[in-house]
Amino acid sequence: MASSPQCAPPHGLVVRTAGNGSRSMHANTALAAGTVLADIGASRRQAEPSRYTIQRGQADHLDLRPADLRFINHGCSPNVHFDVERMVLVALRDLDVGDELRCFYPATEWSMAEAFDCACGAPDCLGRIGGAVAMPAAQLRRYCLSPFVAAQLQARGTLESAG
Ligand SMILES: [Zn+2]
Repeated sequence: MASSPQCAPPHGLVVRTAGNGSRSMHANTALAAGTVLADIGASRRQAEPSRYTIQRGQADHLDLRPADLRFINHGCSPNVHFDVERMVLVALRDLDVGDELRCFYPATEWSMAEAFDCACGAPDCLGRIGGAVAMPAAQLRRYCLSPFVAAQLQARGTLESAG
């Protein structure tokens, strides 16, 4: 198989465009939980968030490279996670051919510029998604969180019930 140029999706992933023009990222091969799906180390850093960036710190946002990773949509039952410490995209669950990749936006985004009403279809869909700041700690603890979001939560003082 030919190697992909920098702008293309990483090996094993493919971008699909729906009839309404919205795009999404899918597995085009079976991928096991724990697999590193992409190296995001070439992402560009910027101080301000956009609808496509991944938050790493207070004024530290990643404009993703490979750029196609921006087409990974939010899901309340995520199957992938942006690990901003290791700077990789990792599979949280086994992925079958055709599965849509979904990450949990509040796992990295403390306060999102554009909140939205989620329609991911998960049985436990949370509805309105505006970032971790808008969510109870008990809800967030079910997810794999970035160090920044975990630290913000701790600073908010809502982890006291964690024991
Ligand atoms: Zn949802």
